[in-house]
Amino acid sequence: MTTDNIRKNFPLLQQMDTIYLDNAATAQRPSCVLVAVQEFYEQKNANPLRGFYPLSLEATESYQEARKTVQEFIHAEEPEEIIFTRNTTESLNLVAYSYGLNFLKEGDEIAVTIMEHHSNLLPWQMVSRMTGAKLHYLECTSEGELTDEELQKGINERTRLVAVTQVSNVLGCVNPIQKITEMAHRVGAVVVVDGAQSVPHMPVDVQALDADFLAFSGHKLMGPMGIGCLYGKRELLEKMPPFLTGGEMIDSVYRDGAVFAPQKFEAGTVNAAGAVGLAAAIRYLQEKGFDYIQKKELELTQRAMEGLGALPYVHILGSKDPANHTGIVSFTIDGVHPHDVSEILSSDGIDVRAGHHCAQPLLEYLGVRSSTRASMMFYNTPEEIDALIESVSTIRRRMGYGE
Ligand code: PMP
Repeated sequence: MTTDNIRKNFPLLQQMDTIYLDNAATAQRPSCVLVAVQEFYEQKNANPLRGFYPLSLEATESYQEARKTVQEFIHAEEPEEIIFTRNTTESLNLVAYSYGLNFLKEGDEIAVTIMEHHSNLLPWQMVSRMTGAKLHYLECTSEGELTDEELQKGINERTRLVAVTQVSNVLGCVNPIQKITEMAHRVGAVVVVDGAQSVPHMPVDVQALDADFLAFSGHKLMGPMGIGCLYGKRELLEKMPPFLTGGEMIDSVYRDGAVFAPQKFEAGTVNAAGAVGLAAAIRYLQEKGFDYIQKKELELTQRAMEGLGALPYVHILGSKDPANHTGIVSFTIDGVHPHDVSEILSSDGIDVRAGHHCAQPLLEYLGVRSSTRASMMFYNTPEEIDALIESVSTIRRRMGYGE
């Protein structure tokens, strides 16, 4: 399979005249995803889960099939453990509002890593404020490692919840989720895993990880925007109250109360077309296979790290090992602000991200205010990486530094 053939599946990659290296923010979509969404609206559009007429039943069937596709993809035990949401952020807020506010109290501790995206930090700051539970930061090394010592210190008999990203959106490092769930479960804490940057790039098995919750977004794995997932263990979901209330999520409603349906977390009309598009994206990923995807992404990362790392004024954040970057290379350039770096790269037709990447505590902890991030997907090419390196190598000169 050549990259050229793969790129033909992506209409925007065919049309755009820039090099897209902001895949960690959102991926591009293959035509099969666009077609799946269009077909849903052209052929099956009715409000799912409501009507008893054939069109609505078909819409329901497609929606539930998509749930099954997600279940099998992340190896959940049952489809009922998959909740469709808008994105990772909503999934994590669901856990914070429904589990955090109801099962945590003063005297408890919430352990969060210093490298969390704001989406897996602000909800726990809110729970801490509202319940009195104490927020404890698990700090990492400058390479992004969460050492055993740090984990043992931070996950103790007071810990009731651990919030951890599987892959950092700044460093790209892969965290030892299995070890963390073992340690957390030993003290009776639940583990909330942010899978936004892992699920699109590596096989994820929630049962093998023994994660209690796992959140991810459709748009980062080439699905539509506005659809995301939350996995939760059945016994936890069963005891949690709904996050949002209203239509669709009830068995019956009385003047003074209601009995909730098992699908109590999906209030209101659902994003069935989004779920169908996400299922198409998952099938596309599965067709390519993670062996191929990981090999390609590692080659690109290696190339980027070697080329950028050879420039003495460039500093790559995180691990020295490209295998521990998940396609993410964040860097700083001596004397040049990342916003200027991204503007210059943009003027050379290269799309990257600059800023704090919604992980301000991590950057502050690492002693950098912001960074430039190039993030790759298997459809990127070695030539695109070479163009990035070439452009970066001219930046200091163009800023007047004479190199
Ligand atoms: N967590 C991580 C690690 C992320 O990289 C992102 C997206 N940048 C999010 C959470 C939030 O994802 P979304 O905006 O799709 O909710």
